[in-house]
Parts: sequence; structure tokens; C-alpha cells
Amino acid sequence: MPVCYLPEKTQDIAAFRSALKRLCAAHPSDISGGEEGAFPSVLLDQLTQLGALSAALPVKNGGLGLHESPEGMLGLIDLLRISGRLSLSLGRCLEGHINVVRLVSLYGSDTQRNALAAFVKQGVLGGIWVTDGAPPVTLELTATGYQLKGAKGFCSGVRQVGMALITARNALGQDVMVLVSTDEPERIGKGPGHLTGMAGSGTGAYNFTGMEISPDAIIGRPGDYLRQPEFSAGAWRGSAVALGGMDVLVDLMRQELQARGRAENPHQQRRIGEALILRETASLWVHRAARAVYGTPAEPEECAAMVNLARIAVEQAGVQLITLVQQALGLSAFIRGKRVEQTLRDLATYLRQPAPDETLTEAAAWFADREWPEDKS
Ligand SMILES: Cc1cc2nc3c(=O)[nH]c(=O)nc-3n(C[C@H](O)[C@H](O)[C@H](O)COP(=O)(O)OP(=O)(O)OC[C@H]3O[C@@H](n4cnc5c(N)ncnc54)[C@H](O)[C@@H]3O)c2cc1C
Repeated sequence: MPVCYLPEKTQDIAAFRSALKRLCAAHPSDISGGEEGAFPSVLLDQLTQLGALSAALPVKNGGLGLHESPEGMLGLIDLLRISGRLSLSLGRCLEGHINVVRLVSLYGSDTQRNALAAFVKQGVLGGIWVTDGAPPVTLELTATGYQLKGAKGFCSGVRQVGMALITARNALGQDVMVLVSTDEPERIGKGPGHLTGMAGSGTGAYNFTGMEISPDAIIGRPGDYLRQPEFSAGAWRGSAVALGGMDVLVDLMRQELQARGRAENPHQQRRIGEALILRETASLWVHRAARAVYGTPAEPEECAAMVNLARIAVEQAGVQLITLVQQALGLSAFIRGKRVEQTLRDLATYLRQPAPDETLTEAAAWFADREWPEDKS
């Protein structure tokens, strides 16, 4: 297990951000992060060595408190964007880990926060496994505690995650968060089927049936997982990872057009310009959403609506960029094994996040008769 706990060189946010940027520069966009289908373990180890798993912990638990200050926000954007740029599969897993740290910090007891921090400092990767398999996960009271039944169907990093935060339905039909060890390989099952993208995310199923848990494993109160604004607001982090995938596509498009002597062509120049606009649009939305989350507390619905709009804006920008890159590079963007082709598939898959119609219409309903909030930061 790698030693990860905030090495000397990254013990403040500025140093951490510099180290991330050096790591990113050492992995040019045209070099693939590894064989497709293989979990990006080397990249995860490199991030872990920089203290990336611990950085999101609150300062009082020994982390950099990336959720606790405007500077921390910039550090978290860098971490997510750069991990997505290195590999969207890596970004997916890291974003899940950060979600676990965030939810336990918000809703867990001091003891639970300390316990999670102790695991994270040893290099344990967390996972947030919510999407149910068949049958869905339930929580039943026993004489000594609780027992889980059912499976989760989409578990990123199913073989790498050591500690998962899952939701389970209790006898009253409420969703409860449970933090459990996920180190029993015999419980791992096939995931959703052969996805055309994100093959490196190691997404499988995990069967929790028969697992005994103590009351200490329950995080927060029933319903906390869906509590706003965090439930929707946390989505800005996934958008930041997607932005990293867009960075790769913009780089590869420009590089290939240059290399083929096609970058001077006015039609290709239009596409380059549009690609830059799309990427910057996504970046502005990610930063705006993050500021809404970190800024002066607003009504929960307002914060959720802002982030929901950001999520859809990034999705739309990403989808348009995919088409633009395919048009710019032609068949060359469809050659298996090229980084651009894999990133196009990975991003298209990554952008399929839950309930996009509802996300947009709920946000629209909130702002239909309210003014757009001033950006006070
Ligand atoms: C690589 C990968 C890794 C993942 N890892 C994890 C993980 O670690 N943990 C986890 O919990 N999940 C994970 N997931 C699952 C993920 O969180 C989402 O559940 C999934 O991406 C949802 O995508 P979808 O397009 O099927 O969404 P859907 O919500 O099914 O949306 C599909 C379409 O149907 C519409 N729609 C949605 N609901 C309805 C309705 N009731 N009636 C009519 N139309 C509707 C939507 O607006 C959209 O147009 C992962 C997914 C992928 C691809």
C-alpha cells in the first residue's frame, strides 16, 4: 500500500497545486495513461504520492481542507481537472473518493471522521456506490446490529476501492448511508455490461448480501444522502473531471491539425476557435458552480439549481466538442488505440450522468421567477 499522507513537499495548498501541475506536465495529452481497459493504477499511485487522497480531508483531520476555503476550492478544481485530464477513469474514481470524504465530513460523527481519515492516510481509496443492482440494497435490523441485502450495480474501482459509502433502504423506505469495507473479492460481480467508454474505471457490481454491520457504520440520519444542497451541489466536482477530458480533446485536436498542416485552413480555424470557446464555457461554469458552493450560504435550492445548470452546460459543451473533434480530424478520430479516439468514447460515456432532463427542468423552475444571483466572490 503506498504511503500517501501529505508528503513534505505538498503540505500546503499552493505547494500541492504546483506539484499537481508538474505531474500534469509530465504526462502530455498525446500519450495515453495506460492500456485501455486497465485500471490507471500507476497514475493513481502518482497522485497518491502527492497526497491527493488525503488532501480533501478537513484540516482538523490532517488534510488540506480543500472544501474549507476559496484557496482550497482552487486546489480541488486543479485536482479534479488534472486527474480527468490524465485519465477520465482515474478522475471518476478520485471524484468518488472525494465525495466519500465530503459526505462523511458533513454528516459523520467525530469518531467516524477520524476513522475514515485513518484509512485514507494509509492510502485506502474510497468509493461512492449508490446506483443499485438487482436486488437493490436494503438494511435490516438484527439482534446485534444490521444486515445488508442486495447489490450495487455500478461500482467504479470495484477492485481498488477499500471503503465504500453506499446507500441502503431501511424498513421505513428511507435511504441510509453506510460506510463499509469492500475487500472481499468473492462479492464482486459483473457490472453493467461492456461499456464502450470508461473501460479503465473498473466498474463492476458488488454484492452486500449477508454483510453484518454495526450501528457505527451508519453515517448521518436517514435521508441525509438526498439532502440539499449537497446532493446536487456535489455534481460540480464531476463536471470538473469532465473538463479535464475536454482539455485533452482540445490539445489533441490542435496538435493533430498542426502536425497534418491543416491548422491554417479557415474551416479548421473556425473549429479550433469553437472548441476553445466550448472548453472555456465549461471552465467558467465549473468555477461559477464551485463559487456558489463555497460562497455565502444561499438558499439550498438556489445553490442546487446553479450547480444543476452548470452540470448541463458542461454536458452540452462536452457533447458539442466531441462532434467538433470528429469533424476536424475525420476518420483519424475513429482509429482504435489512438488517445483521441479513446478519450472521445470515455467522455461520451462519462457525460451520461443521472436524470439530465430533471436536472435542467428543476433548475429552470427555480429560476423562472427569481433573479440570477450576484457573484459575490
Ligand atoms: C463509467 C461509469 C462509472 C460509474 N460509477 C458509478 C459509481 O461508482 N457509483 C454509482 O453509484 N454509480 C456509478 N455510475 C452510474 C452513474 O452514476 C449513473 O447512474 C449513470 O451514469 C446514469 O446514466 P443514465 O444515462 O443511464 O441516466 P438516466 O437517469 O437513466 O438518464 C437517461 C435518460 O433518461 C431520462 N430519464 C431519467 N429518468 C427518467 C424517468 N423516470 N422517466 C423518463 N425518462 C427518464 C434522462 O433524463 C435521460 O434522458 C457509473 C456510470 C458509469 C458510466
